[in-house]
Order: sequence, then structure tokens, then C-alpha cells
Amino acid sequence: MSQLTPDLHANYAENAKKYEEELTLKGWFRNIYQTIVSVSKGMFITFRYVWAEKAVTIEYPEVREVLPENSRSRLFNDAENCISCLQCATACPVDCIYITATRRDKEAEKIKTKDGTPIRLDLKQYTIDTALCMYCGLCTTVCPTQCLTHTTDYEFASYTVDNMKYDYLADDVRAWRDRIVKD
Ligand code: SF4
Ligand code: SF4
Repeated sequence: MSQLTPDLHANYAENAKKYEEELTLKGWFRNIYQTIVSVSKGMFITFRYVWAEKAVTIEYPEVREVLPENSRSRLFNDAENCISCLQCATACPVDCIYITATRRDKEAEKIKTKDGTPIRLDLKQYTIDTALCMYCGLCTTVCPTQCLTHTTDYEFASYTVDNMKYDYLADDVRAWRDRIVKD
């Protein structure tokens, strides 16, 4: 007590006096009444959210949200329609797109993307390190053939950072296509 500043000490003495004054039978009942009112108000709000208000959570994974079409979620490169132009990698602010391509043999069969763009380079590597990606969407915006898109897939959590580096020429990654990419 002696450690208290004079003001705090005065407040403490005043509160103690007030408490002693209130510790009458009337004050005791008033305390009980105020406790009941206070708990009732709290429980009213709780039960209103339990029964009356619309739930804001879902029973995931039994119930799954469908993200809006324009969501910027997991990236997918439909590599058959990629012309290796590097525009996505150039636009990426965090440099997490890695592309390797070689010039196509002049004698090789002429091939085009589905929108008719000639493919003059052979794509050898197309990797995105999604652990670095910030889902800004710049890479998809500049893609001339629109083969690089954000999907609405959000279930790609991984136990290791290495598993978040996607090789879009690998069979297992290409197998996503049917599940997550809409034509
Ligand atoms: S969404 Fe943004 S950060 Fe991610 S790969 Fe594309 S440009 Fe890079
Ligand atoms: S911008 Fe599109 S076409 Fe060009 S390299 Fe990237 S994904 Fe391929």
C-alpha cells in the first residue's frame, strides 16, 4: 500500500469505503440482480447467434465453397497453348516463373495454339514456385494466348515448400486440368 501514489491510494480508499457501504443486504441483492441481468444479456446474444442468425461458417470439408469465377487462386498453365514468349515471367514482380524453351526445328511440323498463334519454340520447362507467388494476376493478364489462368481451386495446401513448386509439364500437374480448369 505504501508503494501507491497518493492519488491511487485515495482512489483505493474511496472504493473500499464504497464497497463496504454497499455490502448491505440491499446491496447484496442489487449485486445478484445486476449479475443476472448482465449474464442474461450475454446469453441472449449467444443464443441469438446459435439459433436466429445465419451461420457465417461452413462444415468444411463436407461442405465446400465455390469461389467466384474471377478468383485469383491456384495458377494453371495449359502448356500445349503456351508459346514460350516469357511475358508472364517478365511481368512477375517476384520472379517465381521459370521458363526454358528451344527454337523449333525448321523442318518440324508447324503447330499452333488453339487460338491460332504459331508455336515457334519448344517449351522445355515451365515451373511456378507458388510458395513465392502473391497471386497478383499480372502473369495471366499479359499472356497472349490465355493459356495461363488463375483457377478457382483453393485446396492445394502442402506440408513442404518444395511441393509448392509446380512443373506444368509434369504428368501429375497436367492431370489437374480436368479437375480444375474450365474451358
Ligand atoms: S500471380 Fe503474380 S506473383 Fe504469382 S506468378 Fe503470376 S505474376 Fe508472379
Ligand atoms: S505469357 Fe503465356 S504464352 Fe507466354 S510464356 Fe507465359 S504462359 Fe506461355
